[in-house]
Amino acid sequence: MSIHVDVDNLWILEDEYHVEDHCGYSFIYEDALPRFLALLAEFEFQATFFIVGRDLEIPACREFCRAAIAAGHQLGNHSYSHAVRFAKLSAVEKRNEIVGTHDSLVSLTGVLPIGFRAPGYYLDDDVVSALSERGYRYDSSVLPGCATGLMWWYQRIRTGKAPDKTFGRPRDFFASRRPTVMRHEIVEIPIATCPIIRMPVHSTFVYQFGLAYANIAFSILAREAGPHVYLFHAIDLLNYPANGPLARDVIPLRWPFQRREACVRSVFERFRRDFEVTTTERLYG
Ligand SMILES: [Zn+2]
Repeated sequence: MSIHVDVDNLWILEDEYHVEDHCGYSFIYEDALPRFLALLAEFEFQATFFIVGRDLEIPACREFCRAAIAAGHQLGNHSYSHAVRFAKLSAVEKRNEIVGTHDSLVSLTGVLPIGFRAPGYYLDDDVVSALSERGYRYDSSVLPGCATGLMWWYQRIRTGKAPDKTFGRPRDFFASRRPTVMRHEIVEIPIATCPIIRMPVHSTFVYQFGLAYANIAFSILAREAGPHVYLFHAIDLLNYPANGPLARDVIPLRWPFQRREACVRSVFERFRRDFEVTTTERLYG
C-alpha cells in the first residue's frame, strides 16, 4: 500500500465552488499538514505528497516540503496551477504545468520528483510526453470505474450547473486497475479501486459512504497483490470551521474535524494490520 496525499490548497476548492471569501494561503500548511507528518511518524509510515507548483511561492509550503523531506517522505508533482480545465489545456500548456512545478521543486527543495498526478484524474499522451521530458517514472492520475462520473454529478448537483472541471475520461470506466507500462516506460499506477464493482477506494469516498465501506474495500484489497495507491487530500486533516463556506459542499469537510481525524487514524491502523506500507518511489524509482 502506498499513501499519497494531494496537497490541494483551499484556494483550489474555493475556485471550484465559487467561494469569494478566501480562508488564507498558509492555513493547510500550518494546520493540516503538520498533523499528517505527526501521524505518519507515529505509525512509522512514509508517504508521497503531491505539491501544486504555485504554492511553492508561499514560504509555509516550502517549509512543509523541507520538513517532509527531512522525515523521509517523497514529493510528487501535482501541476503548477491545478487548472480547473486541465484536460482542455493545449499540449504546450500541459507541458508548462508539469515542467514548471518540476523545475520549482528541484530548485527550491532539491528533490527530483519522479511521480505526477494531474488535477481531475486526467491522463493523455500530452501528459506522458511532458513527463518523459523530465525523466518521470510514474503517473498516478487514473481513477478506474464509476468514481469520476459520480464526482461530476455531485458537483453538478451541488453548484447547480455543469462543472467547468473535467473528471477523468469516459474510457477510464474500463481502465486497468493494475500498473500499466506506457510510452517512454512511464508506469501508470491507478488509484485503488475495488475489483468487479470498480468502486473507488480513496478518502473522499470513505467520507461519503462511511468507514464500514472502507473496511469492506480494504478487506478485498488485502487479498490482492499490490501495489495499491490510497489517496488522501490535505484537507482530510484540516480543522476547518464548521460554518465555513466550503463545509456544506466539500465532502470531507462535511464531517466534523474530530471524526475525520479518527477516520484517518483508523485507516492507518488498518494499513498497519493488513498491508505493507511503502512509497511508490521505492517501488518504481
Ligand atoms: Zn488536486
